[in-house]
Parts: sequence; structure tokens; C-alpha cells
Amino acid sequence: MPILITDFDGTFATRDFFDLIIERCDPPGAQDGWQGFLDGKLTLSEGLGAVFSSWRTDAAGADALVAALAPAPGTVEAVHALQAAGWEITIASAGCGWYIERLLAQMGLTIQVHASAGVFSPETGLLMRPDPADRYHHPQTGIDKPVVVRDALERDPIVAYAGDSTTDRAGAMLVAPERRFVTGWLQKGFAREGVPHVAFEAWPEIAEHLLK
Ligand SMILES: [Mg+2]
Repeated sequence: MPILITDFDGTFATRDFFDLIIERCDPPGAQDGWQGFLDGKLTLSEGLGAVFSSWRTDAAGADALVAALAPAPGTVEAVHALQAAGWEITIASAGCGWYIERLLAQMGLTIQVHASAGVFSPETGLLMRPDPADRYHHPQTGIDKPVVVRDALERDPIVAYAGDSTTDRAGAMLVAPERRFVTGWLQKGFAREGVPHVAFEAWPEIAEHLLK
């Protein structure tokens, strides 16, 4: 069966969870943690982990911030349409499975997720627990997206990829240009470099393209 591999933050969800924490909560240490990644002093996993663990809120606040990830209108219907047409959908994310699974539960969707595990409590914030034994584990980015894509291509020649940022580049390059869906920063980069791709604004557009 054909396979769609999609990034989560800024792709499946319109917002990035680390960004929402900084923007809406701005806990001590969050901005410094992210800056540490931007300055090259921390890996992406460490930078994200610093932001997630600085977050302090109660259970209701946690649910509200997950809801603020704001998947585009029509995303639930688009997932159902793809799955009904035989597409397997897999989320591959450098972020944390905790908020991804929580958003999927809020949406009533069942989708396979490859991301670092994590636990949340009001006292500790969100603690990421990457599993070095996971087949897709990557020490810098949490999940090795190109390996996820290569495994999919071994199972089916029809693989689509959707993403928006630097960790999506290598995986996106492994699929055919007509199934290489990009938005945001990565779309601008591909446009500038003349890398063939399909640009999208909202995730449900991917289903429209694939089901045409
Ligand atoms: Mg992203």
C-alpha cells in the first residue's frame, strides 16, 4: 500500500510545539535552550528538550497548548480520505510523541508515529526520553527521517513525503518530485535552489493531490 510520511510540527500541525511554549508561556530557560541549538552548542534534540522541560502548566493548560497546535481545517477528513483510499500515513518527528499522540487523540485519529517518547507532569514539564534502541533513533535529531523513508520505499514504490524544515530535506529528496510536498522554510529553500517539489499551504491539500 502507498505510504505518506509526514513531519508533524509546522506540517501536519500548523504550529511548532516548542514555539507555542516560548510564545504563550515563555518559561525561564526556554529561550536560552532554543538559542543554544541555534548557536550550535546543543543538538536539536537537546534544544527541544530544554524548551519542553522548562514548561510549567497544569493538565488543563497542557491540553490547551496541544490544541493550539491548530491542525488546518479539513485535516481529519483528509486523513480519513487517504486511509480509505489505501494510503498508510506515518508521522516522523524530531519532536516528542507525547504531544503528537495527544493531538491525534483530540482529533480522534489513528496514525503511526515515529518520535521520541516523553512524559509530562506539572512539576517537571515535558521530559523527552529518546530510545537509543529504536530502529529510527538519531542522536542529534531524535528520529532519522531518511531511514523511515528508505524503509517505506522497500515496502512500496509509491512513497510521498511532507515537511517544512531542515530535518525534512534529506527524506524529501528520496521521493519522486510529484510526491515531494513542502511548505514554509523548506519550500522557500527548494524554490530558490530549483529543486522540484509540490508546494502546499495547508496539509489537507496533500490528500487532494494524492487522490487526484
Ligand atoms: Mg516541522
